[in-house]
Amino acid sequence: MSLLIVGSIALDTVKTPVEEHADLLGGSASYAALGASFFSPVKLVGVVGDDFPASEFEFWKSREIDAEGVQRVPGKTFRWSGEYAWDMNTRETRSVDLNVFEHFRPDLPASYKTSEFVLLANIAPALQSHVLDQMERPRFVVADTMDLWIETTRDDLDALLPRVDLLILNDSEAREMTKETSLIKAGRRIREAGPRYVAIKKGEHGALLFSENEFFSCGAYPLEDIHDPTGAGDTFAGGMAGYLAAQGRAPTFTDFRRAMIYGSVLASFNVEAFSLERLRTLQKQEIEERYQVFRSMSQFEVVG
Ligand code: AMP
Repeated sequence: MSLLIVGSIALDTVKTPVEEHADLLGGSASYAALGASFFSPVKLVGVVGDDFPASEFEFWKSREIDAEGVQRVPGKTFRWSGEYAWDMNTRETRSVDLNVFEHFRPDLPASYKTSEFVLLANIAPALQSHVLDQMERPRFVVADTMDLWIETTRDDLDALLPRVDLLILNDSEAREMTKETSLIKAGRRIREAGPRYVAIKKGEHGALLFSENEFFSCGAYPLEDIHDPTGAGDTFAGGMAGYLAAQGRAPTFTDFRRAMIYGSVLASFNVEAFSLERLRTLQKQEIEERYQVFRSMSQFEVVG
């Protein structure tokens, strides 16, 4: 079952306390698509400028990522630059140049409109809704968002939520959205606004999943060295949505649990190197091995 993914495709400049790299492939859709491609074929929707490397299109092709829905238009690709503090968690955006992204209207190729699984990776909620408007009858819709949209386009986001099956956001965004201190209350409040499932990411502390009657908490893989946290959330969303799409059915809660762990595994690999470099060389076998370690860490027996 293929997964339609729409989001940003960017050239990023990333600075950490030890390294700085410019013009790296980035963007929410780039991370999500590569993460998802380990589980299911992807139909990618986005926009790039004429400065965007042709080699990336070749790479996508080699990974069963269909880029027919990626528009190449005159002008420069969206550029984003960020700098991490010493904790490799706090991040400051240094610059955003929308470039070709400014007038982006995602138009779906005919063959995309019947996709049954959709991941609306992080872009403006009005654009996420515009994609859904063009689809025939998606069976399962996953959406990601960010603080910017909660702060600037809240009405658009609220209008999207009832059309979403699973909303993924991070802890500070969940608190900001609901004005609740407790993440448990926040998760439940967001569910009441529309999505049947809500996943709240807590960075190095794992993630929480809420459904109507069930709850799951998953830890994070204990990584010692993080080189570039950029795109961890997008990779998590891509891994999770890709795994769910690959099951080809209405997901059960067990599917969600496994999807959360696969998403966390993918994100843990992603942060081991800058940009998408680690995901480019990653093998399915490595994912499975880390998945098993993760599972064994999450199980325990009470003795006595
Ligand atoms: P994350 O680390 O998960 O927040 O994702 C970082 C990626 O999001 C970078 O590769 C950026 O190119 C991309 N990005 C940054 N700002 C935006 C935005 N306003 N809309 C869409 N994508 C963005």
